[in-house]
Amino acid sequence: MLYPEVHNFIGGSFVKSEGKVLDVYCPLNGEIISTVPLSKASELNAAVDSARIAFGPWSTMPVKERVQIFFRYRQLLEKNRNELAELVKIENGKTLSEAFAEIDKSMELTEFACSMPQLISGELLEVSKGVECRIDRYPIGVVACITPFNFPNMVPNWTIPNALVLGNTMVMKPSEQVPLSAGRIAELLKEAGLPDGVFNLIHGGKEIVEAICEHPGIEAVSFVGSTKVAKLVYIRATSKLKRVLTLGGAKNHLIVLPDAHLQMTASNVAASMSGCAGQRCMAASAMVAVGKVDHIIEKLCDEARNIVAGKNLGSVISQEAKVRIESYITEAEEQGAKILVDGRNCKVEGCENGYYVGATVIDNVRPEMRIAREEVFGPVLAIIHVDNIEQAITIENSSPYGNAASVFTQSGGAAKYVIEHASAGMIGVNIGVPVPREPFSFGGWNESKFGVCDLTGNSSIEFWTKLKKTTTKWNPESKVNWMS
Ligand code: NAD
Repeated sequence: MLYPEVHNFIGGSFVKSEGKVLDVYCPLNGEIISTVPLSKASELNAAVDSARIAFGPWSTMPVKERVQIFFRYRQLLEKNRNELAELVKIENGKTLSEAFAEIDKSMELTEFACSMPQLISGELLEVSKGVECRIDRYPIGVVACITPFNFPNMVPNWTIPNALVLGNTMVMKPSEQVPLSAGRIAELLKEAGLPDGVFNLIHGGKEIVEAICEHPGIEAVSFVGSTKVAKLVYIRATSKLKRVLTLGGAKNHLIVLPDAHLQMTASNVAASMSGCAGQRCMAASAMVAVGKVDHIIEKLCDEARNIVAGKNLGSVISQEAKVRIESYITEAEEQGAKILVDGRNCKVEGCENGYYVGATVIDNVRPEMRIAREEVFGPVLAIIHVDNIEQAITIENSSPYGNAASVFTQSGGAAKYVIEHASAGMIGVNIGVPVPREPFSFGGWNESKFGVCDLTGNSSIEFWTKLKKTTTKWNPESKVNWMS
């Protein structure tokens, strides 16, 4: 195996789990590269105990001292950028340049966390003569973070720097499909000087997630993954009265108008639907073609044909995912849709056992088809034709999801109409992947997110802290009135 077996990380050391193990595959070639344990509930107890012990000293350390560790962590991400990107590529199957982008984003997330002392300095006001009210932020306690397979380095870093800089301690449960990057993150945090127990890793699947939701020692749970599991985790953890934020799946619509810039639109749409092999919660999944946009579709197909698996297109995560994605394409074809670019039966020379699906563009998709409504999570674009922008919005609004929506046009009025009427948390104008950069928060609406606030950016401060309101009066001569 390319990598040794994966271990939990508890109290600052790697600890072998007693649970049975699963194989970890490299999706690029189908080879087994490691094994990951399905940890037992007793092992979760040890991780939570270690985080609870660490919470006292960590939470009382001044925030300006806590950020010093994250300045160093950010430097370590940069120093180890090549190796971290290679690891992401091997365990997830994305291209090296996509993996580099993930590490760069992790650095940006950490930079934001390092600015926390400037953002949480609190509020103070003399509310009547001699009487002051002040607000301070306190960490919540031990928090849990459960992550998906599609960004093994970035999504953990959505939560780790912010939650820890704000004084919490953490138990993280990475996706069992990509457990390796999390171990390297744990090592780099330790190298940066993070005290033992502040960050702990517990590997496993469904059972350990359920144990996290139930654990009385965990105060808050964050989750990123599919909507089905986001709902289960939200319901289970809130029923135990925890603070919970779960981010779910997506079906993102790109609305393309006839006046859209030809080249910019074609290349943006193609990059959005195929980047990370379509396995992004921000990926373009449905293109709503308004009126006569055949020239754009033609150019888009040219772009899609230039996306070559094994070169500028990575693999999908598993054989199961490949079969699922291809069955969506076949079903759409059987229902009368027209396959303009067909990515089925895609093979990469020398990597015949890899899980590749080529870029696929499907025209004449009807809104009621499964491929128009469900998250495919592969490099597949379904084109739905409508006559006007109102019909495009009706289709976008009918999706149960609400992560992202974009419009491609040269008209400010049309763009404003989409911004105002799309039912999504993140909107793009002439942008295929409208991910907000720090300090702006990332997060969708509807069934793409359950709970309030966000995990990243300014809004994350509300999620990762609680407020203490203090009223003081030191001068006995202060006038007494109805409010003091
Ligand atoms: P997933 O829901 O299958 O798994 C996510 C996590 O939940 C993993 O750690 C997994 O071990 C655990 N899990 C899986 N099944 C479970 C169950 N039945 N009960 C409890 N825990 C369970 O998601 P995935 O396949 O790893 O990731 C892809 C999904 O994540 C897509 O739907 C994608 O849109 C979504 N995603 C969303 C965002 C966002 O910001 N909204 C970001 C990234 C990915």
